[in-house]
Amino acid sequence: MTGETIFIDGRWRGAESGETLPVIDPSTGKAFGALARGGAAEVHDAVHAARRSFERSWVGVSPIERGRILTRLSQRIAEEHDRLADLEARDVGKPLAQAEADIRALSRYCEFYGGAADKLHGETLPYEAGYTVMALREPLGVTAHIIPWNYPAQMFGRSVIASLAAGNATVIKPGEDACQAVLAVAQLAHEVGLPAGVLNVVTGLGDEAGDALARHPEVDHISFTGSPQTGTLVQQAAAEHNCPVTMELGGKSPQIVFSDAKAESMMATLYNACVQNAGQTCSAGSRILIQEDRFDEIVSELGQRFAHTRLGPALENPDCGPLISARQHERVSAMLEEAHSEGLTSQGRATLADSIPSGGFYVRPEIFAPVDPEHPLTRREVFGPVLVATPFRDEDEAIRLANHSEYGLVAGVWTSDGGRQLRMSRALNCGQVFVNCYGAGGGVELPFGGTKRSGFGREKGMEGLKSFTRIKTVAIHHG
Ligand code: NAD
Repeated sequence: MTGETIFIDGRWRGAESGETLPVIDPSTGKAFGALARGGAAEVHDAVHAARRSFERSWVGVSPIERGRILTRLSQRIAEEHDRLADLEARDVGKPLAQAEADIRALSRYCEFYGGAADKLHGETLPYEAGYTVMALREPLGVTAHIIPWNYPAQMFGRSVIASLAAGNATVIKPGEDACQAVLAVAQLAHEVGLPAGVLNVVTGLGDEAGDALARHPEVDHISFTGSPQTGTLVQQAAAEHNCPVTMELGGKSPQIVFSDAKAESMMATLYNACVQNAGQTCSAGSRILIQEDRFDEIVSELGQRFAHTRLGPALENPDCGPLISARQHERVSAMLEEAHSEGLTSQGRATLADSIPSGGFYVRPEIFAPVDPEHPLTRREVFGPVLVATPFRDEDEAIRLANHSEYGLVAGVWTSDGGRQLRMSRALNCGQVFVNCYGAGGGVELPFGGTKRSGFGREKGMEGLKSFTRIKTVAIHHG
C-alpha cells in the first residue's frame, strides 16, 4: 500500500493533504505500509458518492441482484482466503489460525446476508373496514460504519455487509491501527460488481475522519463499534443531526463455573475465551466466578495453561500474539505492574522466549486469584490477556457478582443442572448467554449486542439486518 487507501466512487486515492499514517506490524513493531490520513473533505466526498449511488442506481437494484452480488463476494473471499488471512494476521498481530477463522466468518456473513437480502419483507396490518394498510420495510439511505482494529474482517461482515444487503449505500471509517483486510475486501466487492459509490472507505484518525463522519448531516444511521468513551462522543455528534445509532461497546464478561460443571471442553474454553486475540475481544470472558469447592482446582489448572501459553509473532501461529500497538502495550503493562506492586496473587504467567522480536508489543498472559469483586482489575476492561478469578458460595451470589458490572455484553454459565441453566440465563443482565460453551461473540446467525455500558442495538443474524431498515406505514382507503 502506498497511501492510496481512500476508496470513493469506485476509485482509490490519497488524502487531499497528501498526509499518511504508518501501518505497523505489531509482531515486530516495524512499519510495512502507509494509510491515507483522510479527514472532513474526504468524508464529505464519500458521503456524497454514497448518496448519489443510493438515489440514482442502488435503490433500483432488486433484492435478488443485491443478494447475488454478496454471494459472489462470499465466493471471492473464500478463493482469496489464504492471502486475506495472512494480511489480517500480520496487520492485527493475531495468530494465523484466528485470522483464518475471521476470514471464513467474513465469507459466511456475505453468504448469510446475500441469502437473506430477498427474504426481508414488511407486512400488511389489520385495520378498520375500507382500509388496506401496509408496513413497508425500506432501506435507511446512507449508513456510516465506524469500526475498530481488533476484528476488522468480522466487523466489516456483520455491519457493512448487513447494511448493503438491506439496500443501503455505505461509508466506512476503519480502525487506523489495522484495516488492511477491509481495504482488500472493498476492492473485491468492486470486482464482483458492487456498483461504484455503494461502498466507500475513508482511512484516517478517529478524531478527524471518524468525528467528521459521525457529524455529517447527510448520514442516515451510524453503526459504531469501539470503546464506551468514543461511543459517547459519537452519540453526541449524531444527536446534532438526530441520527440513529447502534452502539457495540466494551465488556467485562463473566464466565461462571458451578460445582457440578462437567463439560469436557470447559478448561480449554475458559482459557481461550480470555486469551483469544490476546484478550482484545469485546466479549472476552475476562473474569471468572468459580463455586468455592472447586476454586483451587480450576484456578490451578488454568494457571498451568497460562504459564504454558506460547507467545509469538502472528504468522508463526502462536497461542497468543502481541497487542495491537505500543500505546495498548503501555496501558496493559501499567495495569499489570500495578497489580503486582499491590501484591495481587498471580497463579500463572507466560514467559517471553528470547526468539520473540524485541520490537513487538507482547505482554505475558496471566491469571490472578482470588481477586476482590471491587478490585479495578475485576471492574475495568483490560483489553489484554489477563484473567481474574473470584469465588462464590451459591447461585444467588453468582448472579449478584456476575451482574455487578457497568458492562453487560456476554456471560458463560457452566453447570449440568437444567433448571439452573434456565434460571441463570434469565437472571443475567447481558446480550448473550452461553451455557456449557462460550461463543466469544461467534455465530453469524446469532444477534449480538449489549446492555448498560456495553451499548445498545443488535447486529448479526436477521435482527442485525432489520436494524438497517425502517418501516413506512401506507394506509389506503378504498371504501
Ligand atoms: P476506539 O473507540 O478508540 O476506536 C474505535 C473506532 O472509533 C476507530 O475507528 C477510531 O478511529 C474511531 N474513533 C476514535 N475517536 C473517534 C471520534 N472522536 N469520533 C468518531 N470516531 C472515533 O476503540 P478501539 O481502541 O479501537 O477498540 C477497543 C474498544 O472497542 C474496546 O473497548 C472494545 O471492547 C470495544 N469493542 C467492542 C466491540 C463490540 O462489538 N461490542 C467489538 C470490538 C471492540
